[in-house]
Amino acid sequence: MISVIKIMEGIYFIRQNNPVHPLSTSNGFLITPSAIKGGNNTDFQESLLLDVNIEEVGWISLRNFCYDSDIPLPTKLIMSHCHLDHSSHVHLFVEIFGGQVYAPAPEVPVILEENGFFEVYQIHEMNEFPDLMDSYHHLKYEILQFGTIPERKVTPYHIGTVFNYDTIKIETIPLTSHSPGHVGFRIDTPHNEIRIFHNSCLGLDQSEIESKDGPPKDGFGPWYGFKASKLNSYLKDIDKSEEILQDCDILTSSHGIIYYKSRFKMRPIHGKTDFVRTLPESSELESPFEYMNRKIHERETKIVSALEKLGFQKTDIPNILKSEQTLRNLLDMDLIYSKYRIPSKQLAAYKFWERYLIINNLKHLTTQ
Ligand SMILES: [Zn+2]
Ligand SMILES: [Zn+2]
Repeated sequence: MISVIKIMEGIYFIRQNNPVHPLSTSNGFLITPSAIKGGNNTDFQESLLLDVNIEEVGWISLRNFCYDSDIPLPTKLIMSHCHLDHSSHVHLFVEIFGGQVYAPAPEVPVILEENGFFEVYQIHEMNEFPDLMDSYHHLKYEILQFGTIPERKVTPYHIGTVFNYDTIKIETIPLTSHSPGHVGFRIDTPHNEIRIFHNSCLGLDQSEIESKDGPPKDGFGPWYGFKASKLNSYLKDIDKSEEILQDCDILTSSHGIIYYKSRFKMRPIHGKTDFVRTLPESSELESPFEYMNRKIHERETKIVSALEKLGFQKTDIPNILKSEQTLRNLLDMDLIYSKYRIPSKQLAAYKFWERYLIINNLKHLTTQ
């Protein structure tokens, strides 16, 4: 039910196979005392998780993996942010492992309160989308089985916090264009001189490799479908990630492939192994960062040609942004989601996200 890749002694990457919904799970790390222990902190006997959100079968499977491998159970989970694909099953971590959850302060209400999601992510467009609440409710509770977490089990942390252990340092890096508290993780293991950069949910979501030497299959790409998202900042966060990777050996993300620089070797030890590959070194091959930029650019090109079809030019964008009717027309053109494929009960949520993906692309076009 889960796949496990051993990155180095004491550090494993965890991914749940076959989730119930594309927004159900998030990949992340299991870090065990053999990576944490050493130096003065020889008492550390617990494992910790980074950005892992898996379904009940996944948590059980992770527990069994720990038992079978003689790894102490994780007691801490450090979240990257609280979007549903990262928070929906975290309450089960608290129930099954008795664990403590560390969440970025700006997004803590999402996991504590039933309505926190709507407040933190500023979802108030109920007039434009009368079914939005029902649609979210269906997705959040019926499909994803979301549960809140008791306050005493949640520790807020400030974005930028460094979780410092004797032999491992986990730095939270603000990548807040994706959501108000979204962070990536830079993991340093000074004794082993291995550095990992996990860019969380920024949009590196190619999860399948078609052939050994061929390019990976496109995923959805960067997601900026809420009111507060700003594409200019998003592009800067992508550049920032690229810079951070320069002195790291491994690049991971919540929804995609593990990329490693060629000098490094990893060991798949459980489940699927086909999502690990070397980082493209040739400039002819698309880099992970070029992939994210391309996905944004492709959406923009589609939107511009849709505007042309509707008889508008780029200079009309400020007016289009004020016209609910034109935004509705753009939405009906299925530019981003193939909405005929989306089950009717989930449709309002997808339309809401697409509306903001379009609006944020339009706003960005006005700055070009
Ligand atoms: Zn997210
Ligand atoms: Zn995500």
